[in-house]
Amino acid sequence: MNKEYDVVIIGGGPAGLSAGLYTARSRLKSLLIEKEMIGGKIVNAELVENYPGFPEGINGYELTQLMHRQATRFGLKTLTAEVTALDVSGKQKIVKTNEGDLTARAIIIASGSKEQTLNVPGEKEFTGRGVSYCATCDAALFAELPVAVVGGGNAAVYDALQLAKFASSVVVVHRRQELRATRITQEQAFAEPKIKFLWNTVVESIDGADTVKSLKLRNVVTGEKSNLEVGGVFVAIGFKPNTAYLKGLLPLDEAGYIITNEKMEASVPGILAAGDIRSNSIRQLVSAAGDGATAAIYAERYLTASR
Ligand code: NAP
Repeated sequence: MNKEYDVVIIGGGPAGLSAGLYTARSRLKSLLIEKEMIGGKIVNAELVENYPGFPEGINGYELTQLMHRQATRFGLKTLTAEVTALDVSGKQKIVKTNEGDLTARAIIIASGSKEQTLNVPGEKEFTGRGVSYCATCDAALFAELPVAVVGGGNAAVYDALQLAKFASSVVVVHRRQELRATRITQEQAFAEPKIKFLWNTVVESIDGADTVKSLKLRNVVTGEKSNLEVGGVFVAIGFKPNTAYLKGLLPLDEAGYIITNEKMEASVPGILAAGDIRSNSIRQLVSAAGDGATAAIYAERYLTASR
């Protein structure tokens, strides 16, 4: 494998794929590194309805496969590997991976984020046995069972709506009294008779035997404790950034996301960030793709200026 690139893109979600399309079309020698499956989190979306150009919606996996095919057509190379560290001290930057080291003159970081966990007793133990982080993947496994969803954002409410198609009942457990999800999504959930809400409530533990049987809950206003019998619980409480390999190289915001300017440049010349990993990202497919294009264009300008 050739080990010297103009641009290395870390992460194969929509931000990375879009960046790769642009750098490849700019005739920059480009490599995209992805440790898992190409496509990122959106591969789990049954139907993406808010990406322009697909009036009937499109399956998330299919969309990212199309993006990958499009970028590959213009010469983007892909490597399945995990990035373990970066050395960005020189003009020629080093990308260390479990498949060996590579060099790049510019790096676009688009490694996204992963699901936040509740960190309560039983969560780890029952993951895959009643605890899930992906309703789109697992909803059908809970046919005719009572389930709970934890969270109050778009993901939680979408999960509840998805689960209502299969489960006997869905209880959304939210730590506050109002949802963060967009109005239209909230309205859909409020109109669905199978979905109920438990406000101001947190999960204290997830209990069961072979699989999940119940949740111990606490009302954060009254302090009252209760038990909720469920066959499964879907955790949808947001994400945390995949920045472990950056280890103090770049300034991050309080939540650990990379701080960039409007050109997607991080504070080290030649290092850019795009998509969910970026501070203040609105974490949408369309904005990730836009970030990727912006990062690619400014990576090219950096490379031209620093020749
Ligand atoms: P989010 O909007 O950050 O919401 C996370 C929810 O989890 C919040 O309601 C939060 O409560 C709650 N929460 C956080 N930590 C918690 C904890 N430790 N215990 C209990 N509850 C906790 O995350 P998201 O819903 O995953 O969405 C992420 C982004 O993706 C958003 O920008 C969202 O709009 C976007 N998204 C878009 C779509 C779509 O448009 N198709 C679908 C899904 C997601 P508080 O409200 O009290 O903070």
